[in-house]
Amino acid sequence: MEWIDDLRRAFDRDVVVELARDLVRIPSENPPGDESEVAAYLVPVLERLGLRDVAVVTAAENRASVTGRSGTPGGRVLIWNGHTDVVPVGDAGAWRHEPFGGTVAEDRLWGRGAVDMKGAIASVLAGLVTIRRAGLELAGELALQFVADEETGGTLGTAHLLRDGLERADGAIVGEPTRLEAVVAAKGLLWLELRLRGVSAHASQPAQGTNAIEHLAVVLQALRGLELGAAGHPLVGRPTVTPTLVSGGTKANIVPDRCTLTIDCRLPPGQSPEEAVGAVRALLAGLARTHGVDASVTELASWEASEVDPGESIVEAVQDATAQVLGRRAPVAGMTGSTDARYLVNDARIPTVIFGPGSLEQAHTTDEWIAVEQLELGCLAYAATLCRFLGVR
Ligand SMILES: [Zn+2]
Repeated sequence: MEWIDDLRRAFDRDVVVELARDLVRIPSENPPGDESEVAAYLVPVLERLGLRDVAVVTAAENRASVTGRSGTPGGRVLIWNGHTDVVPVGDAGAWRHEPFGGTVAEDRLWGRGAVDMKGAIASVLAGLVTIRRAGLELAGELALQFVADEETGGTLGTAHLLRDGLERADGAIVGEPTRLEAVVAAKGLLWLELRLRGVSAHASQPAQGTNAIEHLAVVLQALRGLELGAAGHPLVGRPTVTPTLVSGGTKANIVPDRCTLTIDCRLPPGQSPEEAVGAVRALLAGLARTHGVDASVTELASWEASEVDPGESIVEAVQDATAQVLGRRAPVAGMTGSTDARYLVNDARIPTVIFGPGSLEQAHTTDEWIAVEQLELGCLAYAATLCRFLGVR
């Protein structure tokens, strides 16, 4: 791998930092969801880099993904997938640096999307610049997917590209922030809404009614003890059940006849959502008998878990590349959150590793940032992974 020295020599820190700043400065909050400006920025960048088949794929108005291909057709194909949407800023006044200012200070790039995940997009683009400046040419083909809509489920982004007829690929990278660890397993997500029904009454005579909020207290208590069957997963741990939203009642002096609770369940690979829904239903059936709880369950969302064999060649390519760039092989790891990798793994059957610069700890936070060093290492790690997996000539 003598090309690693060529890559190091060709590497230019300013390229990755400039790209990342530019991207952070383009708002793309989702919701409401509008990636068209980022797409308009990326298209000429990809064209300048000499990519082929550069296209904007629009699943709905303003919901734009960008695709393009680099390298040599006919050999191996690698997909690099990353989302261009970001979560909302929230209270902009609470930020130390302008959320869309792209400030570089204290060796960090600050702003919404810096770590999740415009920094990774800048890193892979700068990686391609580095490969070119090093005088190297990829022997296989890289298919770039800069997608819309990941933060609200990906149906208008990665899933849409898949429906659009995704080409064969031998491996894929999803560039979510993993501190450059090789994430091969991610939990699935299940959102359930529980509707509790009671009987209203004048609050001065509570015994005349059935209080749905008091029943909620019983349900919450029981959920804490709920054991979702599956044993823990070595990389992502046990399933979790977390109450996240609640609403109920009508008026201060009315015994409430309704109450709604939303719960967020995170399920390791191997545990089906059906099994989890069944466990919640069984728990409620038990409470109906013991406490007279009257509740129904509605499934609001269900995203599959994903897992690939750590022996897959894309995982090994990432590990070999990090050994060269960082001086240590990226450890195989798991992720508790959900990513677009599930579409690539479960629907398209493409061995996929989640691998990107920066830490998930700064994602979705006020004062989001990514260390400049992570951008630089991300750039070199991606460049080395591409050379490793696709070969050079
Ligand atoms: Zn993300």
